[in-house]
Amino acid sequence: MTAENQLQTHLTIGVLALQGAYDAHVKALAALGATPRLVRVPLELEGLDGLIMPGGESTTMLKFLERNGFFDILQNYVKTTPTFGTCAGAILLANHVESPPQRSLGALDITVERNAYGRQIDSTILTAKTKLPGGPLEMVFIRAPRIRSVGADVQVLATRDGFPSLVRSGNLLAATFHPELSHDSRVHQLFLDLVRKHKESESAALK
Ligand code: GLN
Repeated sequence: MTAENQLQTHLTIGVLALQGAYDAHVKALAALGATPRLVRVPLELEGLDGLIMPGGESTTMLKFLERNGFFDILQNYVKTTPTFGTCAGAILLANHVESPPQRSLGALDITVERNAYGRQIDSTILTAKTKLPGGPLEMVFIRAPRIRSVGADVQVLATRDGFPSLVRSGNLLAATFHPELSHDSRVHQLFLDLVRKHKESESAALK
């Protein structure tokens, strides 16, 4: 085990498991040495180092989040804890959601258009250039949204047809595709690196 992997065994990452493709994230995290933990109720957010909000159906997730004040709790949570939203999870993180408009956590300065590639023939696998080290990145799109615009503080790490498909701003990461369905672990690794840096800077601040 490398020194890097040893450090990662100490990261506990929540995976929001209200609906959608959470299981593949659990496997991807475990494969990288992190400890995944399913989150179904607000209490389960406690003690996590980071959170993944998976793909699925953002409208359905929102319905579950409206219960027990989960939406408000999550809205505060993602302000302070590294969070990665994939597909529907990215829609939840966005500042603005279009087509149709819906409520969102308003945590990440992006405008997202839902189901932007049509309804039937909108699932596809593309390989495209990325700013991540290690060459082109496979991206699995399933009824994918499109990030129409990003704020000045948002870094674009990969694109699809000129539109951002992987973005980062501070402790937040969002992908319009499903990295948990590819064998390439670079996107999850990037998230874990971000979580680890955040954790280390927090514990340094406490010293
Ligand atoms: N179309 C879904 C939505 O709008 C997102 C699809 C996905 O997460 N794969 O919520």
